[in-house]
This record gives sequence, C-alpha cells and structure tokens, in this order.
Amino acid sequence: MTDVFVLYEALWRTLEGLGVAVVYGGLWEEDGDFHPDPWETGKDSPKITISRPYYADPPWPNQHRNRGGSALPPPDLLLELVTLAHEGGHFLSWKERTPRSEWQRYFGAAKKRDQIIAEVPRGGSTDEYNDRLRAAMQSSLRAEQIELILTEEALAWRIAQELLAGVGFDDFEYYEAAMRKGLHCHRYRLGLDELWPEDRASNGGAA
Ligand SMILES: [Zn+2]
Repeated sequence: MTDVFVLYEALWRTLEGLGVAVVYGGLWEEDGDFHPDPWETGKDSPKITISRPYYADPPWPNQHRNRGGSALPPPDLLLELVTLAHEGGHFLSWKERTPRSEWQRYFGAAKKRDQIIAEVPRGGSTDEYNDRLRAAMQSSLRAEQIELILTEEALAWRIAQELLAGVGFDDFEYYEAAMRKGLHCHRYRLGLDELWPEDRASNGGAA
C-alpha cells in the first residue's frame, strides 16, 4: 500500500474540498468527532476533529506531536486515517446522504446520549461506572433513539469505506476490524453488547 500519510493527506484535502473543516483536538475521549455547528451559531459550519494528544501546531495534516508529547509514541496514522474516514462518513451523511429531518432526529438522540454521559456520576471502578452508564442509557433513551444512533453509525462506516477506496486505501481487513470495534463500542455504551475480552486492553472507539 502507498505510504499511509500520503493517503491521510489526500483524504483530509478531499474532505476539505467537500466543505468540512478538519482539525486536531487534544482532549477527547473519542478517536474523533463530527459536528455540523460546533459553536452553535445556527449556521452550518461542519467540523471534524481528530484526536491526537499533544498535537503539533500547524492546522494541517502532519505526523507530529508538540514538545509536550515527546515521551509518547508517534501518532497512529493508520488509526487516524480510518477515524478521519468514519467522521467523513458522518459529514457526508449530514450533508447529502440522509434527509436532513432524519439526520436531526439522529442528532437529537446523540445529544441526549451525550447528556446522559455528562450526568451519570463518575467514581467507583470503571466497571461500576460503565454499568451505571449503560443502565441510564437503557432507561432514558427510547428504542427508536437507540436505533437512530446505530443506523447512523453503520452508514458512516459504509461511507468511510467509499472514501478510503477513493484515495487508494486497500487494507480493508484493518478497516473491517475498526468498523466492528467501533460499532461494538457504541452498542456496549448503549447497554446492548457485553464487553469483549479484548476491550480491557484498549480504549474507546470512533464517535
Ligand atoms: Zn461515529
């Protein structure tokens, strides 16, 4: 396969050309995020954030961290590339693939989910916290809202595959594994899946 960074840069530029800003963010629990109007301006201002602790300053695709992150391993460009494609999938779903009224219903459900995450108290072990969170999801989200979230996530992964193929990516085994893991993380957090044994060794998934 071509150098990952070449594909990474190509996909970043492709998405910018389609009308979404792409930036790095350092303090996210998720691998990435898409928001159609992150500053709540009431106008469309779509933005994708790619998580990279201690990201370097230039606001364009790069392979570095700043000096504060010198003790960390180099950024995982393959993971970031697939995350970029997945968030690009949410962007294109919002932009043209999903009727806007339906997308808004999805986004309302996702906001409700995020509100539940913000309200469930931290503390205790990770398992205890996750159990509280999962119980709150099951009692506070309607079945229809859970379905909207899962449908949007699956669509974002399908579009991600198109975007990756479009720039010449060919490691679809890696993509498949990332998709399975990403969907599982959502299902786990919503109280549907149980933990997989390997979950204990990893952290989170694409939003
Ligand atoms: Zn997602």
